[in-house]
Amino acid sequence: MTDLTSLTASQIARGVGAGQFSVVDVATAFYDRCTYIEPALHSYLTRVPQDQVIRAAKAIDLARAQGRQLGPLAGVPVGLKDIFVTKDLATTCGSRMLEGWLPPYQGTHARRVTEAGGIVLGKLAMDEFAMGSSSENTPFTVVQNPWSKDHVAGGSSGGSAAAVSARTASVTLGSDTGGSIRQPASLCGVVGLKPTYGRVSRAGMIAFASSLDQAGPLGVCVEDVARTLQAIAGHDPADATSLTDPVPDYLAACQAPASGLRVGVDRAALERPGLQPEVRRAFEQALLVLRDCGMTVVDISRPHAHLGIACYYIICCAEAASNLARYDGLRYGPRHGEGDLQEVYRATRTAGFGPEVKRRILLGTHVLRADCYEEHYGRAMRVRTLIADDYTQAFATCDLIATPTSPVAGIARASTERDPLELYLSDMFTVGANLAGLPAISMPAGFGAGTPGLPIGLQLIAPRLAEPTLLAAAQAFENHTTWHTRRPPEPEVG
Ligand code: GLN
Repeated sequence: MTDLTSLTASQIARGVGAGQFSVVDVATAFYDRCTYIEPALHSYLTRVPQDQVIRAAKAIDLARAQGRQLGPLAGVPVGLKDIFVTKDLATTCGSRMLEGWLPPYQGTHARRVTEAGGIVLGKLAMDEFAMGSSSENTPFTVVQNPWSKDHVAGGSSGGSAAAVSARTASVTLGSDTGGSIRQPASLCGVVGLKPTYGRVSRAGMIAFASSLDQAGPLGVCVEDVARTLQAIAGHDPADATSLTDPVPDYLAACQAPASGLRVGVDRAALERPGLQPEVRRAFEQALLVLRDCGMTVVDISRPHAHLGIACYYIICCAEAASNLARYDGLRYGPRHGEGDLQEVYRATRTAGFGPEVKRRILLGTHVLRADCYEEHYGRAMRVRTLIADDYTQAFATCDLIATPTSPVAGIARASTERDPLELYLSDMFTVGANLAGLPAISMPAGFGAGTPGLPIGLQLIAPRLAEPTLLAAAQAFENHTTWHTRRPPEPEVG
């Protein structure tokens, strides 16, 4: 009997549709696997109780038995990053500030996943309020990288990437403000896609930096990610920035030919300090594979790319400072302090936020001060335009841009407090797509040295709403490689 947790989401959805196995069998297999390996992995912050999971599974089995049309995620066990609001299911955003909060409504993402036939298994570990690259910025247990217990899963969607890699969920949703889907996907050896800004609703996704935040899927292969995107993409009247453009057929896009596509490479970006030689080697190999797929590799230049990190961290902190003002101890989560309002605010925010969140609120408040605004925030906004213009010009001569996803293969768990700047710099290849609102995918493209070697990711970036091109190229690359078929060792349990 096949281990149902080893199947891709696409195999599960097809198998369920064809009556090869029941959704109850699939859900039970994943549920039991979670119970077995979660004590070592810590990918979940909250799990849906077994009876609810089985009830949801039975509903899909019944729908099939009645001959009803099944959605793209029929019977697929899904994990949601804990940034997504789920009715009556704890939603903490990785923070003490929201501990014990049971949302009174279902966010768009959980609703669309369920409507597409997905079975929600629970809420996944993350950096507090999605601020970080290691999933260590949290008062809760830190998720492990399935490939190595000495390394982090990346962040901020570390739980979403580790769950897919270790098969505690079939596919997952993450959020990406500066790389938080793509970087953990890269570090855990799975596929992660950040759609065009506005392609997926932000309603019911707790806000970090509203002009950059975008929800997206993670899976073990390109088709799983395309299938999940199909379920969640599309206009949502509850989000004013959500796009009204029709949603293309992403599964069909995976089958479209990729030969003839021009892939741009900014060679200057590869010379920047911090790129590990083994990642560079894997990247050069990946370019050869893209050529084997019939694509051409052309040189491009993005003259303002090196300003991305500085620009991103000013803008995201400014927006975070303003978004997080709502956590005042009066509306959600625990309340601290007694006496006047100021004292309740002070005590609640002191106890509720961790050090990285406080750092960003302070930085953001500083750059927005009337006497600093022009020098910092105003300049960052102008640089953001230059960065976006660089992409527009580059896309005049190419269809996609390729970079490594993370400059390093593996980030060791921190034994002492980290230098935050070090982690900020590891976002050098990912923040650009957020600043310009472009879709980007990361997929497995090799392994670093050591035993086991840690995964390395290839990033492809496309013009606005060109997810179909991105998926066609990614699928072609996947068809020519076997990196995505490697599975991590089983975690040591007990
Ligand atoms: N690592 C980046 C940060 O710390 C990105 C986070 C994200 O995309 N949510 O802000």
